Amino acid sequence: MAPDPLVRLQAVSKVFPGGIVGLDAVDLDIVSGEFITLLGPSGCGKTTSLRVIAGFESPSSGKVLLEGRDITALRPFDRPVNTVFQDYALFPHMDVAENVGFGLSLRKLSGAEQAKRVGEALEMVGLADKLRARVLELSGGQRQRVALARAIVCEPRVLLLDEPLSALDAHLREQMQVELKRLQSRLGTTFVMVTHDQTEALSISDRIVVMNKGRIEQIAPPATLYDRPATKFVAGFIGTMNLLQSRFVGRDGDRLRFTAGTLPLEAISETGLSPGEGEVRTIGVRPEDLLATTEAAPGTAPARVNSIVFHGRTLRLHAELGQGLPVVIDAPRKAEGFQFSVGDVAHISLRRGANCPVLPG
Ligand code: ATP
Repeated sequence: MAPDPLVRLQAVSKVFPGGIVGLDAVDLDIVSGEFITLLGPSGCGKTTSLRVIAGFESPSSGKVLLEGRDITALRPFDRPVNTVFQDYALFPHMDVAENVGFGLSLRKLSGAEQAKRVGEALEMVGLADKLRARVLELSGGQRQRVALARAIVCEPRVLLLDEPLSALDAHLREQMQVELKRLQSRLGTTFVMVTHDQTEALSISDRIVVMNKGRIEQIAPPATLYDRPATKFVAGFIGTMNLLQSRFVGRDGDRLRFTAGTLPLEAISETGLSPGEGEVRTIGVRPEDLLATTEAAPGTAPARVNSIVFHGRTLRLHAELGQGLPVVIDAPRKAEGFQFSVGDVAHISLRRGANCPVLPG
């Protein structure tokens, strides 16, 4: 029998006064030692999920289990869970050591033991030399580290992080993502993070939970979410994906052949089943899986280039296939200059071996 997950949300719903649905029958298993991220647009229920796990919010129905034990009624303080809040919630009048030691001071530990633990936690986050610094003297990144140290010092089984990096500028944020992941690996503690930033979620998580309107759309590792989104919502939320209404024209082994307008496409069949001849499905095609050439060739379809966006090594072409079908293509940028100009006709084809999903609906 598989061991119980560390945390299990079992059919958890939360309805706020006024009938606002925060969570709608959410089932979620969190495995011990993983870095799992709750991702989704504003209002989808990420923070509510975190607050239910922390015990700050009690579900309207459903259960919260910790290693199989029902903790739904347990108060926040009695759960082996700690939270890093978005605004860090540090005490400005206390120094770094006092802030980090605050949680410990509520426990019955000797002064020496407390000091040792505070020192270790600050060491972990690279702030051992800031023991006596005032919070107000610290940079944003340093405050973030103090908040982390304060959360890990009590050695929680689960660390909840609510948009922990949102107050940092882009550069520091990227650096802290790496640090956060490294810290989690070293501690082996289960981290549950909330973010609405898909790049952050993709770069940091073992698994991502994509939420929409109080429900879970898909739970999967980053690469699976990217390559095989289960729904149109996930496909649209993770990176850029063309959602092309395409007609089924036949199959080659496990590859299903479609056409979107005049553009020939191939998709993988996850289920082994084929649609009927002529049936229409939505095929998800990443911009990097489309090729654009200046010459027509078999297997290409003409598209008018409406705009070109500089993306570093590639150019993102926004083009229009026949029948006004919009399509986004990432084309390599030629060193000598732009290959395409607005108004040109690009000849579009699917990259060989591209694994395009067939999306429901
Ligand atoms: P954001 O990214 O904006 O923080 P979120 O995904 O974390 O959003 P939640 O804060 O979990 O979303 O909110 C989910 C829904 O529940 C929203 O519609 C929100 O307005 C509602 N909600 C959350 N807390 C309360 C509350 N205390 N009272 C009433 N409605 C609430």
